[in-house]
Amino acid sequence: MSDQGDPTYDNTHRAFLQSLLARQTITFAEAKPVLAAIQTAQTPNRPTLPEDVSQADFEHYVDALNTQISAYDFEIRSTHHQISKERIYALVNTTSDALTQMATVHTPDEIAFVKRVLDAMFETYNTQAAEVMAVTSMQALKCARPPNAEQQRRDSGNQTQVAAPSAALTGSQAQSVLELMVQEGWFELSAKGYHSLSPRALMELRGWLVETYHDQGGEDSDDEDEDEHVKIKFCAACREIVTVGQRCTDLGCSARVHNHCARNLWRSQGGKEECPTCKKAWIDAPAVGEKAARQGARQATNGRMRRSPSDEAQSGAEED
Ligand SMILES: [Zn+2]
Ligand SMILES: [Zn+2]
Repeated sequence: MSDQGDPTYDNTHRAFLQSLLARQTITFAEAKPVLAAIQTAQTPNRPTLPEDVSQADFEHYVDALNTQISAYDFEIRSTHHQISKERIYALVNTTSDALTQMATVHTPDEIAFVKRVLDAMFETYNTQAAEVMAVTSMQALKCARPPNAEQQRRDSGNQTQVAAPSAALTGSQAQSVLELMVQEGWFELSAKGYHSLSPRALMELRGWLVETYHDQGGEDSDDEDEDEHVKIKFCAACREIVTVGQRCTDLGCSARVHNHCARNLWRSQGGKEECPTCKKAWIDAPAVGEKAARQGARQATNGRMRRSPSDEAQSGAEED
């Protein structure tokens, strides 16, 4: 392959873009056979084997494509999967957020349901005591109906500019939207039945999440302690959003780190395993992510939040 400074753009790049469009995300390991096949099709008398495709070759393709597609508001971005640690490359729309893109294939009521599921992930199940940022199917399906339908009706009596209330989905409609969110690559479904945002959704929604959930409770909050909890936090090492990882033992401290980034953080601190913000020892750091639901269940001091039998079963299950 050419390793001249200027990345060229030919039919192999177009074919690679096509495969990226079809699959939304790709890892280097997945890209190797794809690029080998594309190059072999280009020069059949000089076949390329998957193992001939180097990381540098792959990155040349990504760079060349980015140069071309930026004019169309697209960019190939990459992030580490928070659990598998693999680097995931995704074709990201740089101007419209994921919710806008979902609107092209889903009805407004379905989008409103997805928004309520996101509220459940990033508000209801993302508190100072437990940053779960994931929901079980049961919890997600509770969002099928707008929680404040009654409230909306009452408010619309006194107020003129109330947004049109969204209609409730039936349980089976909500279930199928949830499944589509997984199929379309926005949500991931864990082995223990939790839905969370995929790496691609986190890349696409980064700005939207910060904008939507960060300023909760600012001026019009009267309960200071509760509302000081900043909803979206970033890794002290890689600066990406943390929805799965570790948090400072001081629950009021905002320091977070991905599990796979912890080693880099200690290295950058000269080997000191302490919180980069408050300097407390980083020992038995509480989990961020679905593990936090189970830790929270164990540490729960009051039973205000009723847990369903299936939640109970999940909380009993031990993690690796
Ligand atoms: Zn990180
Ligand atoms: Zn701290």
